[in-house]
Amino acid sequence: TNTLFDGLLAAGQSEPSRRFALLPDGRHYSYGDVETVSARFANTLVALGLKPGDRVAVQVEKSIEALMLYLATVRAGGVFLPLNTAYTPAEIEYFLTDARPAVFVCDPRRRDQLQPIATAAGAAIETLGIWRSHEESAGSLSDKALAASERFETVARAPDDLAAILYTSGTTGRSKGAMLSHGNLLSNAEVLRETWRFSADDVLLHVLPIFHTHGLFVASNTVTIAGGSMIFLPKFDADEVFKYLPKATSMMGVPTFYTRLLDDPRLNRDSTAHMRLFTSGSAPLLAETHRAFEAATGQRILERYGMTETNMNTSNPYDGERRAGTVGFPLDGTELRIADPESGKILPDGEIGVIEVKGPNVFSGYWQMPEKTAAEFRADGYFITGDLGFVDPDGYVTIVGRGKDLVITGGYNVYPKEVELVIDELPGVVESAVIGVPHKDFGEGVVGCVVAKEPLEEDAVIAALKDKLARFKQPKRIVFVDELPRNTMGKVQKNVLREAYKDLLG
Ligand code: ATP
Ligand code: MG
Repeated sequence: TNTLFDGLLAAGQSEPSRRFALLPDGRHYSYGDVETVSARFANTLVALGLKPGDRVAVQVEKSIEALMLYLATVRAGGVFLPLNTAYTPAEIEYFLTDARPAVFVCDPRRRDQLQPIATAAGAAIETLGIWRSHEESAGSLSDKALAASERFETVARAPDDLAAILYTSGTTGRSKGAMLSHGNLLSNAEVLRETWRFSADDVLLHVLPIFHTHGLFVASNTVTIAGGSMIFLPKFDADEVFKYLPKATSMMGVPTFYTRLLDDPRLNRDSTAHMRLFTSGSAPLLAETHRAFEAATGQRILERYGMTETNMNTSNPYDGERRAGTVGFPLDGTELRIADPESGKILPDGEIGVIEVKGPNVFSGYWQMPEKTAAEFRADGYFITGDLGFVDPDGYVTIVGRGKDLVITGGYNVYPKEVELVIDELPGVVESAVIGVPHKDFGEGVVGCVVAKEPLEEDAVIAALKDKLARFKQPKRIVFVDELPRNTMGKVQKNVLREAYKDLLG
């Protein structure tokens, strides 16, 4: 058997006529189509020289065929390596040189530009674009797949074999390649299906990118293993979301999707009453957004927490209280603890420290970075996530920020989230990001970057915080910005802010 491919498709393949995906161009994919199309791509990869363990690097627009390429790679025993569509050729060069894929699949429009880079990295280059009609080519890989057999003998793969290398988002530094095994991915799909009650009756509105763990694994794998179906849209677009929402039972999103939906007059109880589940992750969902969404729709967004390296770690409960501002409980099979970042000493409930996790979901290490890997694991096998948080008396986990974003001023720790929550409460403030910037006396000083919906004065904001925060936590400066810099997953890029304001405190 092939652990991941057979595990994900067991339910669907028993009923090939069952719907797998509805596409915006009106086409449907059944589970039988998944079988035959993934076979065609698998045959094509093997003909290109792919051997078990070889990487297939892919930078293409989101499409159902790109998803089939993922399944085909796994099926052929290869290692799928998706790349953010926003990466520039210079970035692609880093990834290809690092990962040494056997095959690199890119957008047809970028082939000429990327060909020399692929060749230098020793990869065969192919293209995959958007399918428009039988008359029009959707890229060289697609053409070859159409000519290939729709039967393929799935290559056997054990739970410990690699299924994917996923590069982290690069929010805190250079992206690292997380090596994910068949067992890592399958176990997480199983536990998410159970935790979130996915079944063959589910229709997921899929609007996330598929180069990231959220859209590729959390969304697609969970639906597939449940034998459910997806409405597979190229991206988040509010008009499209409202068009397809009536046909869906669930949607997964990043926080910015929810804030955008909240700005839309079509979001109300009627348009969402039939929905079973909305989930959020990849970045913190403000408790405020959670409450506003409930007020508008009656739906309580289920927030969960994960990362590229670990798949999903925690989730708010399906039944039971979904507590705004928290990421819920460790998933079944995942152990979570809070440790002192320096000493590694395990801390009691309620104390803030670094979140560490262990379980079948946790990756085996960073691709070709044995030292980095060793540094991020404790001797007893726990992975040090780098996220700071605490566990409350009821067992809910709260994330207070990333270790790298912690501000240390005059020897005191300031958790940005605590200051952000107070700033966000002030009238006229939309949102904020608190950072530490170099300060000659204190090492670092607290600076608040604020998005305001009406003109605010810096002095007035600082004054308003005076009796709400201990002196060392109070921002020394407030800067007003039109919006916070975010990446495609809605993550605030604090390193961009730190760089922009590094000289602010002199
Ligand atoms: P890099 O590791 O390259 O700096 P990254 O950590 O942003 O980038 P990802 O693996 O995509 O790369 O993101 C995982 C991180 O996202 C987590 O470590 C955590 O900081 C954040 N995250 C995910 N879900 C949540 C959540 N519900 N609340 C708060 N933070 C979250
Ligand atoms: Mg990370």
